[in-house]
Parts: sequence; C-alpha cells; structure tokens
Amino acid sequence: MMLLTRKMIEIRNILQEISTSGGSRSLTRVQLPSIVVIGSQSSGKSSVLEAIVGHEFLPKGNNMVTRRPIELTLINAPDAAAEYGEFPALKLGKITDFAQIQRTLTDLNLAIPDSEAVSDDPIRLNIYSPHVPDLTLIDLPGYIQIAAADQPETLKSKITSLCDKYIAAPNIIVAISAADVDLANSTALRAAKRMDPRGERTIGVITKLDLIEPSRAIELLQNRNYPLQMGYVGVVSKVPSSFASRSSSGILSRFSGAGDSGDIGSAIAKNEEMYFGRHPVLTKALEDADQQQVSLGVINLRNKLMHILERTMAKNLQPACDAIHQELEETAYQFKVEYNDRPITAESYLAQSLDSFKLSFKEFAGKFGREQVRAMLKSELDQRVLDLLAQRYWNKLDEEPDLSLATLDDTTIKSILRPVSELPNAPSDDVYWHRQLDACVSNLTKSGVGRTSTTLVSNALSGEMEHLVNSGAFKTHPYVKTIVQDATMEILNSRFYSTADQVENCIKPYKYEVEVEDREWSKSREHAFALLKEEVRQCEAAYYKLQRSVGGAKKLSQVEKFVEKSCKGLVRMEDANEIYGFSQALIDKGREGLFLTKRADILRLRMQALKSKQCKSKDSKYYCPEIFLDVVADKLTQTAVLFLNVELLSDFYYHLPRELDARLGHGLGVEKMESFAKENSKVRRHLELQERKQKLELATEKIESVIAMQKTRRLQPA
Ligand code: GDP
Repeated sequence: MMLLTRKMIEIRNILQEISTSGGSRSLTRVQLPSIVVIGSQSSGKSSVLEAIVGHEFLPKGNNMVTRRPIELTLINAPDAAAEYGEFPALKLGKITDFAQIQRTLTDLNLAIPDSEAVSDDPIRLNIYSPHVPDLTLIDLPGYIQIAAADQPETLKSKITSLCDKYIAAPNIIVAISAADVDLANSTALRAAKRMDPRGERTIGVITKLDLIEPSRAIELLQNRNYPLQMGYVGVVSKVPSSFASRSSSGILSRFSGAGDSGDIGSAIAKNEEMYFGRHPVLTKALEDADQQQVSLGVINLRNKLMHILERTMAKNLQPACDAIHQELEETAYQFKVEYNDRPITAESYLAQSLDSFKLSFKEFAGKFGREQVRAMLKSELDQRVLDLLAQRYWNKLDEEPDLSLATLDDTTIKSILRPVSELPNAPSDDVYWHRQLDACVSNLTKSGVGRTSTTLVSNALSGEMEHLVNSGAFKTHPYVKTIVQDATMEILNSRFYSTADQVENCIKPYKYEVEVEDREWSKSREHAFALLKEEVRQCEAAYYKLQRSVGGAKKLSQVEKFVEKSCKGLVRMEDANEIYGFSQALIDKGREGLFLTKRADILRLRMQALKSKQCKSKDSKYYCPEIFLDVVADKLTQTAVLFLNVELLSDFYYHLPRELDARLGHGLGVEKMESFAKENSKVRRHLELQERKQKLELATEKIESVIAMQKTRRLQPA
C-alpha cells in the first residue's frame, strides 16, 4: 500500500536534484503534495515531529531556532543497520548520531542573521530508519505573538507569509494547537482556515491534552467552529520525565538513556497509552459519538499522515505526471533548439579541450625548433661578445682619464687598456693584443654556456606554455592550467642538469683551440659589422634621448664642454652649480653624453677597420677581435644547439602530450572532470540542460510506471 509514497519520494528526490544542481534557472515547477506542519511557538510542534521520527533531533532554544523550513524526508529502511540522517546538499555523509544532526540543524538555522530572522531557503534532511514510515514532512518556523526586542518588527508578517507559501494547495496542512490555549486564538488553525476555508486538506492536532479536563478535551476535538474533513487528533506528546532530561534552557538536551532503545516515539506512545488508560471517558466519548475522524495518540496521527499522504499523492498522480511531462517537453525542445540534441559529457569535453590544446602545442613545436633556439642563443652570446669587447678594447677613452675611470668597472681599470686606435698599426707579434684576444676567447668559452643555453631554452618553453594555457582551450580552467604548468616544469627540471652538462662537455674543445675556415670568417665579418652598426645606432638613440632630457642639444653640449674643461683642470668642478648653474644631475648627464659620443666614435673606427683589407683575411685575427669572437660565438652556438635540440626540445615535445594524457585522462577522476567542464559557462549550461532533461525523463518514466501500477491494482479483485 505504502509503495506509492515511497515511489513518489524517489520521484521527488529526482526533481529536487534538478533544483539543486543548476541554480535558480533550472528550478522545477513540478509540485508533489507535501505535509506541512505549522504551529505557534511552544505549541508542541517539535515534540510531535520527534515522536513521529523517534528521535530528538530538532533545534531547541528560546532564540527562534527554526529560521528556515526543514524538508524532512523519512525513508523506511527495514535493513538499515543503524538509523541515520543525511543532508543531501551538504555532502556530510551518513550521520548516525542524532545529536550531531541536531547541532547541524541548529547551525544551519542560526546562520540566518538575527536581522533577517527567517529565510525561505529550505534545509533538506533525509532520515533512514526501520522505525519510520515513508513520509515527507515540512517543519516551518513557529508563529510568534509579538517580536522580541532584538527581532525585526516585520518578523511576524515574514513568518506568516513564509507559512502561507507552504500551506498553499495541494499541500496538506498539519495545524498544531495546544489544548491549554483557546482554539479560537490558535494561529495555526486561523492560517489553515484562511488558506483552506472548506477544511479539505487540513488535519488539526491538539497537543497537551493532559493539561485540560477530559470533558474539555472532548469538546475541543469536536471543534464545531472549524470542521475538518480529515479530522482532529489529540495527543500527549510530552516526553515522559522518566525518559528524558531536557535541560532547563532546553538547548541540545540529550536522552538520559532510559527507555526502549532510545526511541523517544515509543516512550511517548507508552506514556499516552497510560494517560488515555487513566481517562477512559475520553476514548469512550469519542467512540460513542462515532467520531471516526477524531482520534487520539501520536501513533494514530502517524498512521493518519501516512494514509492521507498516500491518498493525496494518488489523487495528484496524474496532474503531477502531466506537469513533469510538460516540463520535459519544454526542456527537450530547448535542448533541441540550443544544442541540436547534441549529447555532451564532462569527459568528452575534457578530451576535446585536450586535443585542441595539443594541436596548438604542436603548432608551437613546429615554429620553435633548432633554428629559433640557434637565433636565441646566438643573440645572447653576441651580447656577451660585445661586453667583452667593450671591457678589453673600447673602454679606453684616452683623452679623459678621469672620465673613463669614473664609468668603468674595476677589472677593466686594472687591465690598463691601450687605445684601440693603435691596434691597426701594432706589430703582428705585439703580446699585449694577443693577450687581450686570448683572454676574451677564454672568457667566452668558460662563461657557462651549458647552463646559460639550457636556461634560455627552458625559460622560452615554460614561457610559451604559460602563454598557451592562458590563451588556448584551458584558459578558463585554473585547475587544469596548474596541471599543465606542473607537468611542464617537471619535465624541464628533470632534464636540466644533464642537458647543461652535455652541452658544456661538447663545447670543451673550443676552450683550447678554435679553427677557422674562410667561409666562416667572411660570414662573421659581415655579422660583426652589422653588430657594430647596431651598437652605433643605439649610442645615437641614447644620445638623442639625453639631449631631449636636458632641454636640447645646445644645453647638453654646454655641459659636456664644462666637464671636458674640468678634466683638463681649466675650470673647477666646485663652481659648477654656483657659477655655471649646472646641478649634479646635469653634470652626470654631461658625462654620459661625452661617453656616448666617444663610444660611437670608437665603434665607427672599428667599423672602418673591419671593412679594411687587413680584416679580410682569417689570419689577422688579432687585428680583428670582433670577427674572431663572432666565429667562436657561432661555433659555441652551433654545438650547443645540436644537444639542446635532442636533449631538451625534442624530448619535451615528445613527453609533454603523453604526460598530459596521463594526468588529464582518467587519472583526473569523475568529480574533477565535472567541475572542470562546468568552469566553462557555455559547457555548464549545456551539461545542466542535458542533466535536467535526463532527470525529467527518469521522473516521467517512474511516475508513468506508478500510474500503471495503480491501474492494475484497481483492476485486481479485492
Ligand atoms: P514547539 O516550540 O512548538 O516546537 O514546542 P515544543 O515541542 O518544544 O514544546 C514546548 C513545551 O511544551 C516543551 O516544554 C514540551 O515539553 C511541552 N509539551 C509538548 N507537548 C506536551 C504535551 O502533550 N503535554 C505537556 N504537558 N507538555 C507538552
């Protein structure tokens, strides 16, 4: 018989999942009838609910502890090893300790700030037990008479409108009133009368019968002012004092442990039985009056609720089925229009994103190969060569000893430079110039090319990967981005030292000897010339910028002249500010200007030298250090690139896609895949609409089977 309720509870859960998974957009409009419990504060509402569940689990206290509706689903689980509760929205798992459930409910309620006091966002709680019937009950905040000082003025009307929303048709109203309060003043009955004037879907529950005379109780239960088709039930729902020890404050009281296996329901039922046994007049009168609709005791109430829910469900079966159908049709239509019925799964989306990422990775790999690494490394070594040349050849600014000393670093000063202008005319066996070049070569070959080049390529790769994840298929997926970046760094780091070592080993011979061919020489001659030309251009650009920063060419030249004169002792530096009006910053700029002019002059001189006949031949390396160093840099680059290409680049290009397959394939797990897919708002919509459609399909299937089952049952002979 109760199978129907159970099936309907299943369907309700499916419909609830639609509401919880997709935000407000996908809230279902389908209404299945519920039993809604209303009553004033202290009317005994909690006691009645707890008697039905068999456990104390509702929040207790004076401070308006029920602030949100509690949607309570009781599921009869005959084999349940233990009784437990579950908050489906919180994912806390099975909670077997009812005191824990009570604490959680209290926390969830108190999370609503005092200023707001009530919220219509329901708390869902499922309770599984062999002792409960299949039943759904909604507990609402108790009606209050007047708001306390710290409660908002509007609280009373807020609670009323929240309750009104829930007690609308087709829900069944359980209106709880205490016997010791005049029924005409019962807020619950008044609200029920307003929403259900003909008394068709209200059950009146009168609590605390023990507080009044039996004769008065009989009168109350036959309430003629508001006759109810489903009748009234009188209860004594107080927990017997021998069973419980509710603390004086009422908060979180625990069972004392006495009684039948902690079942508060049986204790109350026993207590009631004793009470009614002591007052046979009560039972007798009700029997005599043939008041079938009037009954006594929580057990009868419980059974009544089960039957009424079942009946109402049966009555609402077809309308509910139609409503689900209609919603399914709308959803299916939307799915067709928006997505052309194209199915999607988080897994397929991930696979697709990964493929697209790998494609852009492959494109990058095609564009960043040996040639690009060569260019990158060469330009790094070019810079190193230029620095060495400046240190050993160009920084000798003979006319201004002071100036050159001021702008040079210690090592250069110590190396006592001879002016490079002397170089073209130096004897071919001049030891000084031989030493300068040999030192430069040694410096270059021993400058840690292995490490530098490996770092360069590693950084370029990780930088590009960062760019790829931020622009490609994973750009809206922070979690996956981290996975890609971690995989990148792990691969690169694991190869770093061995690559750097191998490169260093392979360039070792150049530390001792560098052989040059004619072809190499003439290529480097051109390249060195181009490098110097670029240096001159940069000097000129810097000089021009300097001119503008001091307010024009004329001003800069005045300051430069002053600095020159002061170097020759013709003017005193101390007079700069007072007599000439040159600030220290201006003097510094003058120095810089002079330096740039001289540097450009030297560079032009060297460009001329490179063009000269002398520098045409590879045999005159000491006369043309710029060319020879370029040959060396070129050889270092070529050799390093060979190894970098094999050890780092190709290796990375091979391993990364495989590593990503491993980390982002099944290794990721279903939940992570889901949350990954939903990070993309378009995919999220697609997935949610699809899920909604699937759930509505399932609900339709189930409700149709329930209807079919009802029909066959009706056809069977009784
Ligand atoms: P709620 O505020 O409506 O949830 O009311 P409670 O269930 O917390 O009950 C309020 C008070 O009334 C508590 O002290 C209960 O012990 C007491 N109470 C509940 N039912 C009965 C009853 O049938 N008889 C008596 N004498 N007291 C009851």
